[in-house]
Amino acid sequence: MTAISFEFFPPKTDDQRKQLHTAAHKLKGLTPEYASVTFGAGGSTLSYTGETVRQLRDRHGFSVAPHLSCMGGTRAEIAELLDGYRQHGCRRIVALRGDLPSGMASPGDFRYASELVRFIREHSGDHFHIEVAAYPETHPQANDALADLRHFKHKVDAGADGAITQYFFNADAYFRFVEDVRRLGVTIPIVPGIMPIANFTQLRRFSEACGAEIPRWLTKRMQAHGDDAQAIRELGAEAVAQLCRRLIEGGAPGLHFYTLNLARPTLAVLDRLAL
Ligand code: FAD
Repeated sequence: MTAISFEFFPPKTDDQRKQLHTAAHKLKGLTPEYASVTFGAGGSTLSYTGETVRQLRDRHGFSVAPHLSCMGGTRAEIAELLDGYRQHGCRRIVALRGDLPSGMASPGDFRYASELVRFIREHSGDHFHIEVAAYPETHPQANDALADLRHFKHKVDAGADGAITQYFFNADAYFRFVEDVRRLGVTIPIVPGIMPIANFTQLRRFSEACGAEIPRWLTKRMQAHGDDAQAIRELGAEAVAQLCRRLIEGGAPGLHFYTLNLARPTLAVLDRLAL
């Protein structure tokens, strides 16, 4: 059986809060292994992650994994967050470097996610199951793809238990990544991150920023559908479901859905998979 998990982001307005709860309500019936909550680096959104973690646990009964980015944070601040999540019953953390928000001068006490993973192990022992990020199409800031693979291994050597990938639409990039890091001695599960297609224009913008390649055929087909929202939704769901089928057949240990706090695009994919 393929384990599934969902990612949500912390809402900031009342409308967004309503949207999160509607999505969580519809998705919890699929009995995901856990739900993760993203982390907005530096400043105000820090507090929203903790609040969203509590809401998803208390109102919807999810087992929740907060994302924790070390960019801009001090050891003391990160230790406090870890202690808070432990008190709130969290057993899983997604440990990230994050990106320095514009205008923030200091990167904080940690430079890379591997240093954060090591710190979590020092501070919290084996309490947390630690997930880290993986990039089958190479991290967008890496100018050496092979060095990027070795940097991924550093996170595993520092104590990561599992990895979730950046989203991608090319299954071969995932299989190649897994093969390459297995050759380096990495044995942890590497779960593909899946981006259901809700809004193609937005997806193209996101993909440019995070270095995910959208296949030319998919872009062309989407463009050919023009304003036909129904046709675009169906093509998106079918293309992503086909990707998931290939990943499962090829041995992917689970699927982690980037829900963007919407149930429908994720459900459209999962309905087609009938897991
Ligand atoms: P790292 O693993 O530290 O890698 C970052 C870069 O540094 C890579 O190019 C790597 O090759 C390089 N590097 C690593 N170690 C070294 C070294 N020793 N020497 C030289 N170079 C090195 N961002 C958020 O702000 N909030 C979130 O909640 C969030 N969630 C995410 C969830 C997932 C599953 C994924 C895939 C990404 C997420 N991101 C999030 C985005 C992530 O923060 C960015 O991609 C960030 O740029 C890198 O974070 P990382 O943890 O992968 O960094």
